[in-house]
Amino acid sequence: MSRKGLPYFDENTEPLPSRIATGLHKIGLAMKQQAWQQANEEGLSATQGQILAALVVHGPLTGSELSERLGVTLPTISDSARVLVDKKLVARSPDPRHPRATLLTPTKRGAELGARARSWPEFLAGALGDLTLEEQRAFFGGVVKMIRSLQDQGLVPASGMCVTCTHFRPNVRAGASPHHCAFVDAPLASDQLRIDCPEHEAAAADVQRRLWEELSRPV
Ligand code: SF4
Repeated sequence: MSRKGLPYFDENTEPLPSRIATGLHKIGLAMKQQAWQQANEEGLSATQGQILAALVVHGPLTGSELSERLGVTLPTISDSARVLVDKKLVARSPDPRHPRATLLTPTKRGAELGARARSWPEFLAGALGDLTLEEQRAFFGGVVKMIRSLQDQGLVPASGMCVTCTHFRPNVRAGASPHHCAFVDAPLASDQLRIDCPEHEAAAADVQRRLWEELSRPV
């Protein structure tokens, strides 16, 4: 018992959100360390690896598009892209959509390294495999909600997620797959929502708000 007569841990435990944030911070440190180590082994910086991985997933992109997708400043992208071009891992070509813009495309070697860089976060998959299916589903739902909240605050890039996509139709039917992707015209279950979809097209801000309300609505 504590001095006030309450059980010790009732009085001496940080609120749950604070402890979750501390846990996520620890996971974030492990991710940073792993990314740094694996990038180092490939002779890349972590940003260069992220750029190659994004070009493998999304196809050729401009520096501005990379900056938006990765949430990294344009000068940092430009510096990293210059090094990747010097290393012959990325080639520049004119962007047919914008006469003054340049597209970055991975070379064969760049695409190989990009495919490997995509798997850098996979060390976490082993730990996540220790969770039950129900725990994984609950965790995934929480992650989607957290990213959405951080996107709202402008703290993570608003790209790649079904919940902000113009093709997303939440809760349009009953059953195990209540959502719909109009891009591929197929049903989606809640645990199949995409977080990094290459076909994502950002909906207008008011539509994104409506999509989120419809997704959060109890059915
Ligand atoms: S296009 Fe991709 S992000 Fe958009 S709704 Fe379909 S699966 Fe989701």
